[in-house]
Amino acid sequence: MEKLTNRSKMVADKRMTFVERLYFVQIIGGMLITIKHFFRRKVTINYPEKKRTFSPVYRGKHVLKRDDEGRERCTACGLCAVACPAEAIIMIAAERKAEEENLYREEKYAAVYEINMLRCIFCGDCEDACPKEAIFLTDRLVESEYKRKTFVYGKDLLVEPLENDKRIDVSKRQTPEVLEFKKNKKFAHNK
Ligand code: SF4
Ligand code: SF4
Repeated sequence: MEKLTNRSKMVADKRMTFVERLYFVQIIGGMLITIKHFFRRKVTINYPEKKRTFSPVYRGKHVLKRDDEGRERCTACGLCAVACPAEAIIMIAAERKAEEENLYREEKYAAVYEINMLRCIFCGDCEDACPKEAIFLTDRLVESEYKRKTFVYGKDLLVEPLENDKRIDVSKRQTPEVLEFKKNKKFAHNK
C-alpha cells in the first residue's frame, strides 16, 4: 500500500526474551533517565515566590486608557470588538452630555465595555485596531478566580485609575516603528 508519510513504524510481533520479561533493564533505563534530569538545569520556577521578567511587549491584562486630562479615550466605535477573533469584547455606546466633557474625550463613549478573559487569546488585535489608542494589553496578569463569571471584566477593572501615580504606563509597548508612525500629522487625533 502506498504510504502518505514516513512517520508510520513497523511494530515487531516477536516474543519477549526472558530478560525482557523481567522488566529489569527497562526499569533501570527509566531510573537513569530520571537521574539524568536531576542534574539538568530546571525549566520550571517556584511561582509565585519567583517571577520571570516579562518581555516589554508581553500581552497580558488589558487597560482602557485615559488621556492627559483624565478623560476616557474610548469612543465606543466597536473596531476592537470587530477585530477580536475570539468575540471576547462587547460594549454599549452612549452619547456624552454637555456636563460630561471632563469624563469622556469624544462625543460618544462606552457606557458598558466588557472583555471575557476566558475567551481572550491575548492576540493584541484589539490594540492594533483601536484608532484612539484607548486599549492596550499590559504586562499585568489576569488573576486566577474560582467562578467563571468573575472573568468578565467590566469598566471597573479595565479603565485605568484617575490618580497620576496609579496610571498604567504603556510607553514600553510603543516600539520605535510605532512612535515614528505617530509623527504623521494625519493621525493628530491620537495625540
Ligand atoms: S487580545 Fe485578542 S482575543 Fe483578547 S480581546 Fe483583544 S482581540 Fe480579543
Ligand atoms: S477601545 Fe478603541 S477600538 Fe475599541 S471601541 Fe474603544 S475606541 Fe473603538
